[in-house]
Parts: sequence; structure tokens; C-alpha cells
Amino acid sequence: MGYVRTEDQIFLGRIPSQAKGQASKLDSPGYPLLLALEIAVILLAVLVFLATALNAADKPERHMAGNAVAPLCWQSAFAHGFMHGYENGFRRGDGDYQMGRTAQDPRTLAEFKDSAAGYHSEFGDKERFRRGYREGFLGAYSDSMHNRSFRAFGAAKIAAAGMEPSAQGRREFDAGFASGYDSLHPQPPMHNDAKSKTPDCKLEAVQTSPAAAAFCDGYRRGRQFAFFAAPIEEAQPGVQTASRQ
Ligand SMILES: [Zn+2]
Repeated sequence: MGYVRTEDQIFLGRIPSQAKGQASKLDSPGYPLLLALEIAVILLAVLVFLATALNAADKPERHMAGNAVAPLCWQSAFAHGFMHGYENGFRRGDGDYQMGRTAQDPRTLAEFKDSAAGYHSEFGDKERFRRGYREGFLGAYSDSMHNRSFRAFGAAKIAAAGMEPSAQGRREFDAGFASGYDSLHPQPPMHNDAKSKTPDCKLEAVQTSPAAAAFCDGYRRGRQFAFFAAPIEEAQPGVQTASRQ
């Protein structure tokens, strides 16, 4: 009987018999404070959970997380723009091919002109993104019409090998990447690139400053990317298309 009473007392929040005479926990003046603290902790946990969920929802731009190319897209607006342009150009070229339309000058297409398609300020330099986009679009349109494989991803994967995304030197890396790409595919220089001095990235040269090292890392990877991603003009593209299968 005494046992049952003790259980009842515990259930009611009363202090067991050995503490008889002392004030009940519920009656103590500190209890409402403890309760408020518990509620605050629970609310905080809910807020942290919500903030994490919201952050995760707007965080991963599809090229900047989750695959082998992501570190490169994160580090270089040019490379990232190239991927956007490449995807859009390939889609457009494939559409024209499937519909039996003749190849068009891709520079006249609306999708080509919309070179900031999908751009967001967190990607980095907008003008460099647009340059990459245009290069990617032209390459992809040609690849698609000539029934070549979707090669930008493979090229970017090679160029991204061993990269660790780092905020430090991100801008220099991007400038170097575009410059390395241009070294194989000359384009008219961008006005802000022309003004700035760029380090000499010859293999033998030792880069003293972190900025120059980031630029030259980008330069080498940009050159590598250009080598693997750039269209190789077949002598007879029509035969290539006709002999598909
Ligand atoms: Zn993207």
C-alpha cells in the first residue's frame, strides 16, 4: 500500500516520503522559471531546425554542390557560365536536329543572347560568366548538331581534379581560368582583364604571391578544360551525323 502511495506521489509531482517536510517542486518559486527555460530551449531548437531547413532549401545551386565538377563551378564564374551555356546550347541544337531543322548560326539565337541565363551574384564575376556561357553555347550547339557527345561535363571533371573550393583567391583563379581557356581559344579581351597585369604562368616560373598562385592554378586548369571541351571540327560532319548508330 505504501508502495502505491509513493507512485501516486511521484506521479503528482510530489517529493517522495524521504523528503517529507520539504517544499514540493511545484510549489517552489524557481519552478516557473525552470519551465520558462525549458520552453525557451525547445523554441530555440525549433528555430535552429527551421533555419537549417530554410538554408538548405535555397543553398545548393545544382552546379555548385554534389558532384565532381562542383568545386570548379564554385571557384570559376567562367566555368560555371560555360556549363549553363553548354546545357542550353546542347538542348537547342538537339531540338533543331530532332526537328530536322538545318543548322543555324547559333549567335543569332535568343538562347545565345541570353548569356546571363541562370546567373546569380553568388557565382562571381557576371561578365566572365557571360563569356563562359557564350563559349559553352557555341561549342554545345556544334557538338549537338554534329552528333558529338555531351563532353563539357567530362572536360570539367578533368579540370576540377583535386580541387578544394576556397574563397581565397577565387577571383584570381577565375581570371586565370578564363585566360587559360583563351590561350587555346582566343577571344577579344575583356576590358577589365586587359587593364590588369596577369602573372606569367610558365611551368618553370615560381609563383610567389597566393594571388598569382591562384591565377596560375586557374590558368592551367582553364587550358586543360579548353583542350577537352572545345569542339574538334570534323572534316565531314554530315557523314558523322548520317552514320549515327
Ligand atoms: Zn549553375
